[in-house]
Amino acid sequence: MERFSDLLKGKFAFGCMRMQLDANGEVDLCNFREMVDRYLAAGFNYFDTAHVYYEGKSEIALREGLTSRYPRERYVLTNKLTSSCFEKEEDILPLFQTQLDACGVDYFDFYLIHSVLEGNYQKYTDCHAFEIVQELKKQGKVKHVGMSFHDSPEFLDRVLTEHPELEVVQIQYNYLDLDDPNVQSQGCMDVLKKHDKPALVMEPIKGGGLVFLPDAALERLEAAHDGSPAEIALRFVAEQDRVVMILSGMNNVAQMEENIAFMKDPKPLSEEAHRAIGEVREMIRALKLVACTGCRYCTDGCPMQINIPGVFRCINDGIKFPNRPTNHYGWVTKNGGKASDCIECGQCEDICPQHLPIRELLKQAAKRYES
Ligand code: SF4
Ligand code: SF4
Repeated sequence: MERFSDLLKGKFAFGCMRMQLDANGEVDLCNFREMVDRYLAAGFNYFDTAHVYYEGKSEIALREGLTSRYPRERYVLTNKLTSSCFEKEEDILPLFQTQLDACGVDYFDFYLIHSVLEGNYQKYTDCHAFEIVQELKKQGKVKHVGMSFHDSPEFLDRVLTEHPELEVVQIQYNYLDLDDPNVQSQGCMDVLKKHDKPALVMEPIKGGGLVFLPDAALERLEAAHDGSPAEIALRFVAEQDRVVMILSGMNNVAQMEENIAFMKDPKPLSEEAHRAIGEVREMIRALKLVACTGCRYCTDGCPMQINIPGVFRCINDGIKFPNRPTNHYGWVTKNGGKASDCIECGQCEDICPQHLPIRELLKQAAKRYES
C-alpha cells in the first residue's frame, strides 16, 4: 500500500458519477469548478470518472473544470474501461484514446477494468482487456491498473488469482453492506487482505441511503453525538486499514465543505457510534428497502427509457417516510416509460451491480402506483 502513499493526498476522493445538472441536463460547470477549487485547496487530489457517467459528460466536465485549469501534477485522475462501451478487442484502444481526449490528459493515473462481475468477466477476458491495460501501462499512458468489482468474495478470489497484476481493487463498502448477501463487503475486503491489495471504496453512504434515513434511525445516530449520518458513515469506512481512498459523489459545495471538515483528519468513531451503527443497520434491514444505489448503470440500455432508480426511490421513500407526502411516481416517470412499460428484456439485470431483480420490482411498483 505504501506504493500509493506519495501519489494520494488523504483518503477522500472526488467521485464524478453524481454531479449537479442544470435545467438542460448539462453538468453545472460553474458549481463544478467551485467544488474542484475547494477540494484541491483543502489538500486532496483524487478524481474518479468513467466514460459511462452522464454519457461522457463527466469526462468533459473534468476537462473543463479540472485538467484545463490545473497543472497535471496537482491531481490524480482515475478512469475506467467499461464493458458496455466496446464490442470487440479492436474497439478498446480507440475508446481509451477517446477517454484521454475527453478528459484533456495524455495519461491516467489509475485505469480500472470497470464493474467486474461474473456476467462480464468472460467478455473482458475474450477481448484481452487485462492484457491491453497492461500494455497501456508499459507505454506510460496508465500509471496503475486495477478493477472495480461487484460480485462475491469467491469470485473476487478467482479474479485476483488469475490476475495478480492488478494493483488495486475498488469495492463497495459501507456499514450496511458488510454481510449483505448481494454485496458481502466484508468478505470482499477479507479477500483483498488475502491477496494483499489496497482498497478503493465506493458507495460509502450507499448512494445517499445512509444519509436519508428513517426518523428512528436518524434519532439513534444523533444520540451517539459523534457527527452527522454522512460523517459517521464515511469515518466508519476510513477506519478500515486496507482502505486507501473513499469515493464520495458530492454534487454541491455545501456537501463538499461538510465532508472536507472531517475527512481532512478522520477520527475513529466512538464506541457509542459503533453501537448506534449496529442498531441502525438492523432497523434499516427490517424495512426491506430496495437496495438500489442510484448508479443509473441500468438506464442507458433500457429500450423503454424507464427511470428505474427513480421508481425504486419512490418505493423506498414510501417505506421510510410513510407519513410524508412522497408519492412522486408521476414526476419520476414523466419523461420516460412507466414501470408497467417494462418488456422484461432483462438488460438492466445483467448490468445492475447490486444484482437486483429489477423486472419483478417494477411489476410490484406498477401494481402499487398505476392501478
Ligand atoms: S427489463 Fe424492463 S426495465 Fe429492464 S431494460 Fe428491459 S424494459 Fe427496461
Ligand atoms: S437498479 Fe441497479 S443498476 Fe439501476 S440504478 Fe439501481 S443499483 Fe444501479
